Amino acid sequence: MSAPVPVPVPAPVYLETYKSGELEERIMKLMAILNKCNLCPRACGVNRNKGEIGYCKSSSDLVVSSVQPHFGEEDVLVGTHGSGTIFFTNCSLGCVYCQNYDISQLGHGQRMTEEELALKMLDLQKKRCHNINLVTPTHFTPQIVKALKIAVENGLHIPIVYNSSGYESRNIIALLDGIVDIYMPDIKCSDPGNAKRYHNAPDYFSVCKDAVKEMHRQVGDLTIDNLGIAVSGLLIRHLVLPGGVADAVDIFEFIAREISEESYVNIMAQYRPMYRAYEYKELNRGVKMSEYREVITTAKRFGLHRGFRFI
Ligand code: SF4
Repeated sequence: MSAPVPVPVPAPVYLETYKSGELEERIMKLMAILNKCNLCPRACGVNRNKGEIGYCKSSSDLVVSSVQPHFGEEDVLVGTHGSGTIFFTNCSLGCVYCQNYDISQLGHGQRMTEEELALKMLDLQKKRCHNINLVTPTHFTPQIVKALKIAVENGLHIPIVYNSSGYESRNIIALLDGIVDIYMPDIKCSDPGNAKRYHNAPDYFSVCKDAVKEMHRQVGDLTIDNLGIAVSGLLIRHLVLPGGVADAVDIFEFIAREISEESYVNIMAQYRPMYRAYEYKELNRGVKMSEYREVITTAKRFGLHRGFRFI
């Protein structure tokens, strides 16, 4: 039997972007956006540098809920030493069933400077985490990239994971080209009625599709090294909702036809009614095994085969 061919492990993309001076340029562009904020598709237009607050309830002050090696993420991110997760407080989407609503909606967290955030990144690397996993980063993207530069200057060299709701502006994602190694967007739903009802974002699917196409253009399909650790690429998450089979058809059709059949898709079954889900009769229960199986069958029907188990 021949030995497996080693997968070359690329250096994180941000190192080259830093060396070329481009990272500083991106920071200036991103920070300027805070003067009339359109960091996410809500485009509130508020001046966050003057303390104004938009839909995400965030000024220019960076607020972080927790920083820790996390062992509950995907195996390809967790590896042996954990994924270095940084949970940012508040959110630009606002799902009625948010599974982390104390952080995203109730504002639990502490103010942190960019220098302090850089030190946290370096500490996660020191703990041998396999990546820096930015959870709900969208509304703090400028401050995060500023912190990244400080961390790079002090030796950061592990991949950056951009772990988002998928409600992203394509133009902002374009500014992260050469900065993010692994994009991990949710694709939550396709139906504009559901998107309005559950996320207050009727344009969710069309906006998300544009953003995910740009993410895939930058990083391609997920690449996993010989130790089973993701080093670059796109990892899509889909949380199955009660009765959510119809949306799954559109979502998987989009992924297979417009992104790639090699897409790594984590189809998640852990939905629990939380936050305001009890106000929506159809969401006020767990997902039935038969519903989850039907969603898996749908993914297979479109040729998808990475990131989920065949049951
Ligand atoms: S990041 Fe916040 S303030 Fe900026 S556009 Fe989005 S919701 Fe509005």
